[in-house]
Amino acid sequence: MSKKILIIEDELAIAELEKDYLEVDGYEVKIEVSGDTGMETALNEDFNLIILDIMLPEVDGFEICRQVRAKKDTPVLMVSAKKDDIDKIRGLGLGADDYITKPFSPSELVARVNAHLARYERLVKSGQPQNQIVEIRGLKIDKDARRVFLNGEEKILTTKEFDLLTFLAEHPNKVFSKEELFKKIWDMDSVGEIATVTVHIKKIREKIEYSTSKPQYIETIWGVGYRFKV
Ligand code: CA
Repeated sequence: MSKKILIIEDELAIAELEKDYLEVDGYEVKIEVSGDTGMETALNEDFNLIILDIMLPEVDGFEICRQVRAKKDTPVLMVSAKKDDIDKIRGLGLGADDYITKPFSPSELVARVNAHLARYERLVKSGQPQNQIVEIRGLKIDKDARRVFLNGEEKILTTKEFDLLTFLAEHPNKVFSKEELFKKIWDMDSVGEIATVTVHIKKIREKIEYSTSKPQYIETIWGVGYRFKV
């Protein structure tokens, strides 16, 4: 499906030229030549990106940008004929994603649109909730549900056992001292209670290791601490 772009531009010749170039690049383009209809279309239809001229009849580009931002996160590329406008775009904190000053070549515009959409997609992807499952050699930790499975069989861990196991599993191959683990998991600065860590590691091993004397997940590094082996 081709990506949709809205051009709000009162100079029809410019808008048509932009449209031609964008269509060659595979975009579906709609043109609005007035501020009021442009705003209506921007708010009521979905586009992948909006190219928005600032000087428009009826409603200017600043107002359109403000209104679109209040309702949508569609990337907005503002087009300006004046250098002063750039300061205004920045100063008003309108949430415009980028701007381009006239005159510009149509191919420059297309390049900006392409770069912009690529950046936007990366942002959207990185903002998506990460997979909250940690899975290592038959051991599966479901962080959201706070459940642990070993080869499909659920193992019941206490809150602290779960936190400790998850912390280690999320930092594979890194060695942590008992003190460090105690601080991380129990959130206290005490060093007098580090035996608690040993006790919890022992309990976790009893639940997830095939052999507690030859642990394959949580390894003891003598004189240093523990690490989750991958
Ligand atoms: Ca204009």
